[in-house]
This record gives sequence, structure tokens and C-alpha cells, in this order.
Amino acid sequence: MRRAGLALLAAAMALPLAAVQIVARDSTQRGFPSEVQQGSLVIATLPAGAQARFDGHDLRPTPAGLVVIGIGRDASSPQTVELRFPDGRVQKVDIAISKRDWPIQRVNGVPDDTVNPPPAIAARIARENAEIVAARRSDSDGTGFAQAFIWPVQGRVSGRFGNQRIFNGTPKAPHSGMDIAAKQGTPIHAPADGVVTLAKSGFFLTGGTVMIDHGHGVSSNFLHLSRIDVKPGDVIHQGDVVGAVGMTGRATGPHLHWGMTWFETKIDPLLVLERTR
Ligand SMILES: [Zn+2]
Repeated sequence: MRRAGLALLAAAMALPLAAVQIVARDSTQRGFPSEVQQGSLVIATLPAGAQARFDGHDLRPTPAGLVVIGIGRDASSPQTVELRFPDGRVQKVDIAISKRDWPIQRVNGVPDDTVNPPPAIAARIARENAEIVAARRSDSDGTGFAQAFIWPVQGRVSGRFGNQRIFNGTPKAPHSGMDIAAKQGTPIHAPADGVVTLAKSGFFLTGGTVMIDHGHGVSSNFLHLSRIDVKPGDVIHQGDVVGAVGMTGRATGPHLHWGMTWFETKIDPLLVLERTR
């Protein structure tokens, strides 16, 4: 961290005044932070006229000049945003990434064909995942991503983002979201404004599945629902009910799995809820 911080300072000192203002912070203008945790959603204000690129994506500013990027669970330090100014100057902004601990979580008692699926089921899972991935690619002009997010249901966090999970003794992919324990049928509220991009019941692993596009590549997915109250294309406002908690798909009890992504990058909803900048 210290080395990255010094590098950033050295870079800032070498820059002309106009560029230094990018990292100036006041109540209306937020530059990119110097350091964030793995799994963070990062929102920053671009200087007027500047263009930004990160992780293969050209960042499109909102009318207010905001851009957003996601930092993955396994992101290494530093991550670099490239800024281009109207006069052709290019500036690289390094963001130091602090590592997190990823505890092992053992989940036992799920049906074995959800852990080691036979070929026919594996093919079905692949088809359903492709629908989820396609919905995640949505890149609309919505600005819900910049709101202060609210909890979709109230409850105990029963599974954290990023946990290394072992199902019935078999290591599987890290946990892609956070689990909130809640009673079957508890209404699920949209954590921020958006548009529904997927609403389907009966997926093999994820059960009743709803996805909301919050704009600029940021999406929420809600899994294991017992009821779905929305359809693709519905415009959703923060707090609207989109469905109800259940335990459909691969689940051992009623809970809401809430995942968030920036395009393909999975981010931690808990960090989005806690975000203060
Ligand atoms: Zn989960």
C-alpha cells in the first residue's frame, strides 16, 4: 500500500495543475479513491471533457459526470484507470487494492445433483447461466447505481460475498453475493432504481431469479425466490417489491441471495450498502 501511495503522490506531483484537480475532493467533486477493498463498486466524477477507460471498458459519464467501475474479488494492486483529456494528454490513475480474507464456508445437505450434475443437468445449467450472463451485459443510461442503496430485506447475513464454498465436501466457485436469512414469502424490495432484465422461475441452481439493471453496467441479481412480481422491461424504483424470499434452486433454507455485478465483475453488495462516497 505504501509503495502504491508514494507512486500516486509522485504521479500527482508531476502533473500540471488541471490534472491535479482530478484528485481534489470536496462535496461536489469526487475523484477516484487512492485505495479500496477487493469487491468494491467505485464511483467517481470525471473532469469536464475527460474520457476514462478501465478493464477494457470505455466509461460513459452520466449527465452529472459520474462514472462507475467494479473491483473484483481477486483484483491485484494497483488497478489503473486511464484518463484522456481533450488536448490529448493521458493520465493513469492507480487505485491501491486492499486484500480481504476469504473464509471457507461448508454447505452440507444440498441435493447431490446440484453439486455434481449429470450431463443433461449440466447442459441445462449452462443454458440458464448464459441467460444470466447476457442480462448482466446490459449497459443502459440508468443512474440508480449512484443512489444510496437500501437493504432488499432485513435479516441476518448468513453467507458473505467471496467465501470459498464447499458443497457436500466438493469445493465450488466462491460465493458470488451475500445471503440474507429471511422467512419464506418476505417481500424483496429493489435496493435502487433500475430496469428488470430477467425474471424467471425454475432455474436449476438459482431457482426464481430476478435481475435489475441499475445502469452503466451495474446489476443486482436476486435468487431462490418463491414468487416473482415483475417482468423484463419493468421500470423499478428503489423500494418497489420485485418478489418474495424462498428456497428454490440450490438452497438449504429460505434466504435471499443478492449478487451485484459491474458487467462480468462480481462485487460485494455489503460494501455498496456501506459506501459513504
Ligand atoms: Zn448465496
